Amino acid sequence: RQPIVAIDGPAGAGKSTVARLVAQTLGLVYLDTGAMYRALTWLVMQSGIAIDDEPAIAELVSQCQIEFREQGTGNKDQEGKDLNSKLKTQNSKLKTQNSKLKTSTPSLASSAIFVNGQEVTQAIRSLEVTSQVSAIAAQPAVRWALVRQQQLYGKHGGIVIEGRDIGTNVFPDAELKIFLTASVQERARRRQRDLQDQGIGDVNLGKLEQSIYDRDRKDSTRSLAPLCKADDAIELITDGLTIQAVIDQIVERYNA
Ligand code: C5P
Repeated sequence: RQPIVAIDGPAGAGKSTVARLVAQTLGLVYLDTGAMYRALTWLVMQSGIAIDDEPAIAELVSQCQIEFREQGTGNKDQEGKDLNSKLKTQNSKLKTQNSKLKTSTPSLASSAIFVNGQEVTQAIRSLEVTSQVSAIAAQPAVRWALVRQQQLYGKHGGIVIEGRDIGTNVFPDAELKIFLTASVQERARRRQRDLQDQGIGDVNLGKLEQSIYDRDRKDSTRSLAPLCKADDAIELITDGLTIQAVIDQIVERYNA
């Protein structure tokens, strides 16, 4: 397979921006695994299932279909155009019944995310989803299903994958592993700017710091595949660095 670049790190460290641009620079596919956990969280909330109802969530994840599509391709299935994975796991034993992967486009750089055919690209960024996602991502059935789908996406390599457990769990044999981090204060400031750019509102900085801190704590203390730096990952602390400087460092390592 082609090389895999794994980018992990805590909330708001700039992983998405960096990973997307690294993928673009290197001509690789980009996969945002956090978006998958968020899409499922959105679906759970939409379905009125309690966040701690693990059996109901296991059932839901076994039937849900999370897909990435090129931005602007609309709601219909675009056979052959989409980078599209269908995962169906059946029954409470969560055996994979049918997995389908089509990778025909070289980049997911401007991809939209759909869950059960409905676009949720914006909706998964809401504060409500953000505050619940860690509780759902900690559940075994959820991790089992989504990690498997991520492994299918990446099985041919040629991909930049970002998340929390890519270098430790999803692709422990990735050729390049980056652990991207920054101080909580810096990450809260960046998140505030992002939310303002997305028109989600003027969110109080202290509250953002608290929510980032809480999410990191939940993500790094869960029992399954917690957020942590892989032994062989390169740690990049990005306080005071421009996005371009971070990208340059990663591209340099990739080409080395
Ligand atoms: O990266 P993002 O902030 O969108 O991730 C949302 C949440 O999804 C994380 O806080 C974490 O709970 C979960 N996640 C995970 N494993 C990943 C990626 C994200 O558990 N590989």
